Amino acid sequence: HKITIAIDGYSSTGKSTVAKQLADWLEYVYVDTGAMYRAVTLYAMRTKMIAEGKVDTPKLIAALPQINLQFKREGGAKAEIHLNGENVEKDIRHLNVSEYVSPVATISEVRRKLVEQQQQMGEGKGVVMDGRDIGTVVFPNAELKIFMTASAEQRAQRRYNELLERGDTVTYQEVLENVLERDHIDSTRKDSPLRKAKDAIEIDNSEMNLEDQFHTILQLAKD
Ligand code: C5P
Repeated sequence: HKITIAIDGYSSTGKSTVAKQLADWLEYVYVDTGAMYRAVTLYAMRTKMIAEGKVDTPKLIAALPQINLQFKREGGAKAEIHLNGENVEKDIRHLNVSEYVSPVATISEVRRKLVEQQQQMGEGKGVVMDGRDIGTVVFPNAELKIFMTASAEQRAQRRYNELLERGDTVTYQEVLENVLERDHIDSTRKDSPLRKAKDAIEIDNSEMNLEDQFHTILQLAKD
C-alpha cells in the first residue's frame, strides 16, 4: 500500500535530491515545500512588499488569496513550481530569495495557507514531501519520518556548487553565511518550523552519497 514519507531537515542537506529519487522509484507524488515558501517570497519581492530588508507583513497577508501555487510537469521528469501560472522554478533559487524566505516563512498566515495546500496535495496518495515541519505539522501521522542532518560546511558546499552550475556569481563564504543565518532563524524562533518529530529517524548524510541515502530510506519504507 502507499504511504506518506516525510523528510525534514535543514536547508541543503540534499533532502530534495533523495526525496525526488524516492518518489520516482516508488511512483509517488513529490512535493518540495521549500519551493512553495520561496515562491511566496518571490511574489513579495516582485510586488515590492520587501524593501530595505523588511517584509511588509500586513500587505503580504492581504495579498495571500492572490497567490496561486501549482506544481506542473512540463515534459521534464520533475514537476516544477508555478506562481500564478508562471514557471518560477529557476527564479526561486536565487540567493536574494534565499535571503528573505525565512522571515516570510515566519508569518503564520503564510504557513497556514501552505500547510493546508500541502495536506491536500498528499491526501490519500503515496507522497514524499520534504520541508521543515512535514513530520510534525503537515503529516503528524506519516508512516515514515526522516530527519536529515549534515554539517553547515557540507551543506554550504552543496548549495555553492548548485549556484555555480547555474552561473551565479557568489562566493562560498556568502553561501555559508546564508546557510548559517537561515539555520539560526529557522531554529531559534520559539515557533520554529524545524523540529524533529519524536518518531523521526535521524540520518546524518555528511559522509553518505546519494545511493546510500536512497537505499537507507527505501529500506525503511519497506519495513
Ligand atoms: O528547503 P529550502 O531551503 O528550499 O527552504 C527554504 C526556506 O523555506 C527554509 O529556509 C525555511 O525558512 C522555509 N521552509 C519552511 N517550512 C518548510 C519548508 C521550507 O519554513 N516546510
